[in-house]
Amino acid sequence: MNVTKDFPILNRKVNWKPLIYLDNAATSQKPKQVIDKITDYYTNYNANIHRGIHKMSEEATEEYEGARQKTAKFIGANTKEMIFTKNTTESLNILAYWALRTLKSGDEVVLSVMEHHSNIVPWQMLQEKGVKLKFIDINSDGTLSDNMLITKKTKIVSIVHASNVLGTINDVSKIGKIAHDNGALFVVDGAQSVPHMPVDVKKFGCDFLAFSSHKMLGPTGVGVLYGREDVLEKVTPFLRGGDMIKEVRLTNTKWNDLPWRLEAGTPNIADVIGFGAAMDYLNKIGMANVRQHEIDVTKYAMKELGAIRNVKIYGPANRCGLVSFSIDGVHPHDTASILDTEGIAIRSGHMCAQPLMERLEVPALSRASFYIYNDKKDVDALVKGIEKVKTVFKVNFS
Ligand code: PMP
Repeated sequence: MNVTKDFPILNRKVNWKPLIYLDNAATSQKPKQVIDKITDYYTNYNANIHRGIHKMSEEATEEYEGARQKTAKFIGANTKEMIFTKNTTESLNILAYWALRTLKSGDEVVLSVMEHHSNIVPWQMLQEKGVKLKFIDINSDGTLSDNMLITKKTKIVSIVHASNVLGTINDVSKIGKIAHDNGALFVVDGAQSVPHMPVDVKKFGCDFLAFSSHKMLGPTGVGVLYGREDVLEKVTPFLRGGDMIKEVRLTNTKWNDLPWRLEAGTPNIADVIGFGAAMDYLNKIGMANVRQHEIDVTKYAMKELGAIRNVKIYGPANRCGLVSFSIDGVHPHDTASILDTEGIAIRSGHMCAQPLMERLEVPALSRASFYIYNDKKDVDALVKGIEKVKTVFKVNFS
């Protein structure tokens, strides 16, 4: 995939070495098309949206709402179902705060042990009301257990589509069906899948889907909450104030229609517009091609890293574009530091999944995660870097 020319940052050096960026699951780099789009907004039509009657406000509104249409199309939804938030974390918090108002003692929420903190911590609030949290376990290969724990008491099931640690791609259509057969709502954390593969909410059969712009070539500060229209109609606003109202009296308010009801205050106009350009960019490549490219690079990485003595890979063969690994006797932070001296950026630590680390019985892991601008040469550099780590730490156990 010949796209590196579009990413100015990939020309920089880190520690006098050409940058090899393998931390895409944390955040992706941005093509100049996205950077230019944001600059264009601030340079040529910076204005607040929805409320102005003047030309620039109309232009900004058109671009902002245009980005909403693009987002809806990107995941097979309609524009009313598309709420712009700050990130995946805020999207999930909107749902957790709504659940805090509506669920009762004895109700249950089903999550899994492979969730990111942002799909665990908000739901923990519900325990104040006597709601029970249940966690689906994983199998030894890192796939999700079939023991779904979903019963008639379950009101919400919230599961990650693609794990940011194991790479596991969960069968969300199947889980959604079990949730619905039991009368529960089904929430999908799509932070690691929407950027990397074709996603269609109708095929998933989910009620909600959360994801972030910054992991899919877009700017930081923009997240998405998709909600199926009839369910989203019931969600009470998490934030209240300007723009989300139709009429305000001193002691009561008539709320605006969807989607604006759930977007209080001036939104992140510039970055939403930039996010629109990111989706244009991805659409040009085609999400099926993005996925295929990552399958190729990841398979190669699994083969090459798997062949290094004293390196252990976590998670199943069928996975999204990332590989978490450990090197015997080396702390992941040391691995990341030495790779950094070679200009290679990877993630190390608990990766916002401490319960999963506990389940895997590891303190932390290292992770290389790929995107459209990575190729097999990057994997070769990583392998060379890992060999250097082993030499520095004198790792060569039999
Ligand atoms: N869920 C998963 C699976 C993630 O990987 C991440 C980001 N690492 C999040 C949720 C949270 O995303 P954000 O920080 O953009 O809110």
